[in-house]
Amino acid sequence: LLQVKDIKKTFGDNEVLKGVSIEVNKGDVVSVLGPSGSGKTTLLRCINFLEKADGGRFVFDGREYDLSDISKRDIAAIRKKTGFVFQNYNLFANKTVIQNVTLGLTSARKIHSKEADAIAIDVLTKVGMESFKDYYPSQLSGGQQQRVAIARALATKPEILYFDEPTSALDPQLTAEVLEVMRNLASEGMTMIVVTHEMGFARDVSSHVIFMADGNIVEEGPAKEFFTAPKQARTKEFLRLTE
Ligand code: ATP
Repeated sequence: LLQVKDIKKTFGDNEVLKGVSIEVNKGDVVSVLGPSGSGKTTLLRCINFLEKADGGRFVFDGREYDLSDISKRDIAAIRKKTGFVFQNYNLFANKTVIQNVTLGLTSARKIHSKEADAIAIDVLTKVGMESFKDYYPSQLSGGQQQRVAIARALATKPEILYFDEPTSALDPQLTAEVLEVMRNLASEGMTMIVVTHEMGFARDVSSHVIFMADGNIVEEGPAKEFFTAPKQARTKEFLRLTE
């Protein structure tokens, strides 16, 4: 479904991605782990074109693009098939829950408001937030806001969902309810790339793990193998520290 080849990104003289390659197949749940500053978020932002990579190839749905020279039109077309969930939810404060979900449907996709409402109710039900549809974000807990953000990302029926540390702003209880929603999506076969510090999620829910350090992938593989038989000294040390 998605392939990234040799992606590079430098901020000033800080080489944040030093040639990272990943492959994601349909139905994979890929956790991206690594110490703070290793480049995880930058990787995700580059493949969703929120940040421009300096180099690298991007293959999606059978078409290949140059990440450092991709047209706005191609970006828009790819974005229509992907969803992004941010660390801080990024909901519109002056819009209700249901309006936050329908906005992308009625404006960008020109879907009729009645149909958009039906889709919104459907995805809000999926994340257990349908009874809050007329609330404003400020009336919700962080976990509820993040579930709405997930519903919004689902509304456009993406082929792949990217999550950037979706629970890092939440306390343990709220984290659990968001992880539960993500676990359900995974069991339904949703393809996901998740930058996370949640080792439990990475171990129990993801199919693959990518471990990054200093702008490189140090180790990657099936989640089970990664956690039970890590190969690299750096990985072993990381797992020991996060136990
Ligand atoms: P964390 O787990 O703490 O979120 P991370 O692995 O996601 O870390 P990144 O956020 O990708 O790491 O950051 C990698 C490096 O890139 C850091 O040194 C950071 O300071 C730098 N960086 C990230 N974004 C920018 C930016 N917009 N401008 C300059 N430097 C940046």
